[in-house]
Amino acid sequence: MSQTPPPTNSFAQMQAGRPTGPLVQGYEVIIGFETHTQLTTQSKIFSRASTAFGAEPNTQASAVDFALPGALPVMNKGAVQRAIEFGLAVGAHIAESSVFARKNYFYPDLPKGYQISQFEIPVVQGGTVEFFLPSTGSGQALEKKTVRLVRAHLEEDAGKSLHEDFIGMSGIDLNRAGTPLLEIVTEPDMRSSLEAVAYAKELHKIVTWIGICDGNMQEGSFRCDANVSVRKPGAELGTRREIKNLNSFKFMQQAIDYEVRWQIEQLEDGHAIQQATVLFDPDTGETRSMRTKEDAADYRYFPDPDLPPLVISREWVEKTRSEMKELPRAMAARFRSQYGLSDYDANQLTSSWGIAKDYEDAAKLSKEPKLAANWYINAVLPALSASDALPEVSVAKLMSDDAPAKIAALISRISDNTISNKAAKQVFELLWSRNATFAEPVTQVDALIEQLGLKQMSDTGELEKIIDDVLAANVKNVEEVKAGNAKAMNALVGQAMKATKGKANPTQVNELLKKKLG
Ligand code: ADP
Ligand code: MG
Repeated sequence: MSQTPPPTNSFAQMQAGRPTGPLVQGYEVIIGFETHTQLTTQSKIFSRASTAFGAEPNTQASAVDFALPGALPVMNKGAVQRAIEFGLAVGAHIAESSVFARKNYFYPDLPKGYQISQFEIPVVQGGTVEFFLPSTGSGQALEKKTVRLVRAHLEEDAGKSLHEDFIGMSGIDLNRAGTPLLEIVTEPDMRSSLEAVAYAKELHKIVTWIGICDGNMQEGSFRCDANVSVRKPGAELGTRREIKNLNSFKFMQQAIDYEVRWQIEQLEDGHAIQQATVLFDPDTGETRSMRTKEDAADYRYFPDPDLPPLVISREWVEKTRSEMKELPRAMAARFRSQYGLSDYDANQLTSSWGIAKDYEDAAKLSKEPKLAANWYINAVLPALSASDALPEVSVAKLMSDDAPAKIAALISRISDNTISNKAAKQVFELLWSRNATFAEPVTQVDALIEQLGLKQMSDTGELEKIIDDVLAANVKNVEEVKAGNAKAMNALVGQAMKATKGKANPTQVNELLKKKLG
């Protein structure tokens, strides 16, 4: 059997000249990711056992998952469907025919002695993930980054060894055996831990957005392996070490930063880096070697004779394409052109499907897309993150289903000068905390404005009278304004606002003052 490795692009080797990221102590950092995403199918990839998390050990494993002799795998169409959706989301090629292979190795939680995976011909080939790097300051243009994918292939997960519940022996739980995974592999295109985390967050956003993965990192539904090496600018790629199973963005950053420092220290001390698989220990903040790394040849891959090639018709691909919802990048681009939003705003508002959908509802209802964007970015998103919500939970769930209508109602009351921006913020807080008390969103907003006495003074006559009183009582300020002192004008505005208990519209106060003082 051929042991040719899967096609990889030698782009990184070719561009060995110019460093594209920040140097660390004179070294360039090179990172490539392999991410295991657990697919959202109800049943396993080759059996009908359930994939639900948290059941009693071995209650969700069938003959296939236990590897009983003679049990035959049957491909789950839903897993293929999700692989196609992912491929389309990242602009990849969907193979007409791909092949399942046996990856042979022994492990107690893998009773078959091999894992069914894809090797030479994966179902998804190529593609890119585009994202913005976190901005360094507000108003700064966002830096765009593109990471090329090598491939994404379907495979089964292994079981779990349980070491903690037993003394002098280990238990084996095969509930997880056969859980469908899509392993997504990048080129070594990332140049810092910052870029690596931004990539991982974007990938997480894509797979949860299209719904092929629930994204639950604590439960292991989305786990990343970071391959890290360092080199002097212009040198060939260095030897990499692979940090396994990073299941939080925070640990990801810490682990890569530690690993980079460690490798540089080794090289500076004159030691060569050994290719290895390492684990990150969050308690010590260090990475520790687990085993020296196997090469592909060690696995003796060969096509699994129990499974025919996976054939995907072009009709299936096109049908899937036509049924997919708008993707985050496309939606952000549309928000920019249709609603005139900045890169930053459009990016923020497409951080999850729920938020994007809610924002757009509010934009349409209020007919003020920019104001709605401000409200979502400055009020809703911070409230959401404060409430510790998962990114995929929609605002609607937290604020009740009429959240966009409430935001639209708030905006309309600012536009028609009923309340100030500051007052609107107060109403927002209350809407948030007491969200089920009123029926109609508009009634609710108006009722709160009334109840809190936040209504701005709309009667110009009344306001003019107050301003006349202020002018009469502050003769000295008036003289200074007339002499050209701008600060004195602010003092007058302040006095007038105080006299109206903050209910006047400051712009209107300013205009009236200017008119009266000539
Ligand atoms: P394997 O499947 O044996 O782990 P691959 O060649 O498929 O090896 O690469 C796995 C991952 O390692 C890919 O994401 C790739 O981009 C990354 N990678 C390869 N070489 C390097 C390197 N020198 N430094 C950092 N990452 C690398
Ligand atoms: Mg690997």
